[in-house]
Amino acid sequence: MNKKALPLSISFDNSYSSLPEVFYARLSPTPVSKPGLITFNIELAKVLGIKYFGDNACLAEIFSGNKAIEGSEPLAQLYSGHQFGQYNSQLGDGRAILIGETIGRDGKRRDIQLKGSGRTPYSRGGDGRAWLGPVLREYVISEAMHALGIPTTRALAAVTSGEPVLRETLLPGAILTRVAQSHIRVGTFQVFSARKDFTALRDLLEYTIARHYPDSEGPLGFLKQVIEAHAKLIPQWMGVGFIHGVMNTDNCQIAGETIDYGPCAFMDSYHPMQVFSSIDQFGRYAYGNQPDIIVWNMAQLATALVPLMPDIERAISDFTQVVHNMVPLLRKNWLSVFSAKIGISSPQKKDEQLINALLNLMADSNSDFTNTFAALGKDKARDQFLEPEKFDLWEKRWMERIKDIKDVEETLAVSNPVLIPRNHRIEEMIQASVEGDFFLFHRLIEAYSKPYTSLELFKDLRRPPTEVEKVTATFCGT
Ligand code: AMP
Ligand code: MG
Repeated sequence: MNKKALPLSISFDNSYSSLPEVFYARLSPTPVSKPGLITFNIELAKVLGIKYFGDNACLAEIFSGNKAIEGSEPLAQLYSGHQFGQYNSQLGDGRAILIGETIGRDGKRRDIQLKGSGRTPYSRGGDGRAWLGPVLREYVISEAMHALGIPTTRALAAVTSGEPVLRETLLPGAILTRVAQSHIRVGTFQVFSARKDFTALRDLLEYTIARHYPDSEGPLGFLKQVIEAHAKLIPQWMGVGFIHGVMNTDNCQIAGETIDYGPCAFMDSYHPMQVFSSIDQFGRYAYGNQPDIIVWNMAQLATALVPLMPDIERAISDFTQVVHNMVPLLRKNWLSVFSAKIGISSPQKKDEQLINALLNLMADSNSDFTNTFAALGKDKARDQFLEPEKFDLWEKRWMERIKDIKDVEETLAVSNPVLIPRNHRIEEMIQASVEGDFFLFHRLIEAYSKPYTSLELFKDLRRPPTEVEKVTATFCGT
């Protein structure tokens, strides 16, 4: 044992590890041969109150899982879930290990998890590893989401493992350190409900209420609050053209953060049925289906909670009502996100028609989603349309509604990012990184940290892909 003090300390305050053993498997990350630090998120480390003294080699040892930080109680969490509508009775962290929880300077409790840290009892056929591409992809996109102001898990560090990972070919292995309000998923409730382990289910509910929704009461009150969180989140995704790609119930986090960035993507040209994920053959998780799917996922959470209620029939009726109420809630939140995107901060019901009229024109023209909204109120907006005269008519209607462009400029600017992580930029960055060049990775992180600011330095990142640059399919992060 190396007794030398590590150059980093985290003040752990673990709570999940106090739950009964049915909730997880205790185990340590599997060491890797030659870890190398790609990046360490100093800004996030500060929020978490992490103390470190900057030795890259040592940070790599820690964030690869080779060296344990004092106070860490590593474990892999159990969960199940519906994948593309089919129930899979046991999933769980197949390649992730929760190293512990810490309470940040902001008073918030967060999980710190290594992803790609070796096999666990839930790995099934998998190798427990991740390759560099998906690690950097999650790093850049989750940090971009955070900067866009959308609830998300975050990235604390990325390291190369020095070991190859076999996918279609041999690829460089890597490990991501993920930070989340927790890793409790809809699927965490489903696994105990399906097993009829109602003691565990009750323990989990009590634990989760205390951790995330302390002012909610009982299964019904809890369900309502989880629904409210997701009814906020999904319209926010839609407002930036984000497509999660695998909204399985195991990828649906109870605290309402975006989690599990697999084949996700941001749209370039707008189309409501846009899909990128290579595994989403039928478009279940298409851009415009996301509100329906989240309702479906919440119905699965409701179903999992029903057995905790004393009167099952009454519970089914109450829960159904609460789930159905999510539909108008999503619609209301969608309206406030999109009306802000056209500069309206107090939307009226009829603004929905105005927004949809614009979106329809955009779909007809394959207009760039981000650039069209960012150009509203400026001369170049009409350039985004195949038939600019049609946009002119829309703009006239819009002007009648907003009266004076000066009054809405501020709302437009804070509601329409100029920079989103475009797929072709992510792919270009991954390719360079695989060859050992991390310049683009660092550049994207910096650029996407200020997505609402138009800087000359990052002007090239605003350009949509050319025909050859277009990424038409994204692949799961396995
Ligand atoms: P995902 O599609 O990334 O949400 O993963 C679905 C399930 O497969 C989760 O239980 C993961 O932990 C597991 N999994 C994904 N990739 C691997 C891998 N390379 N090794 C072991 N388990 C994996
Ligand atoms: Mg997952």
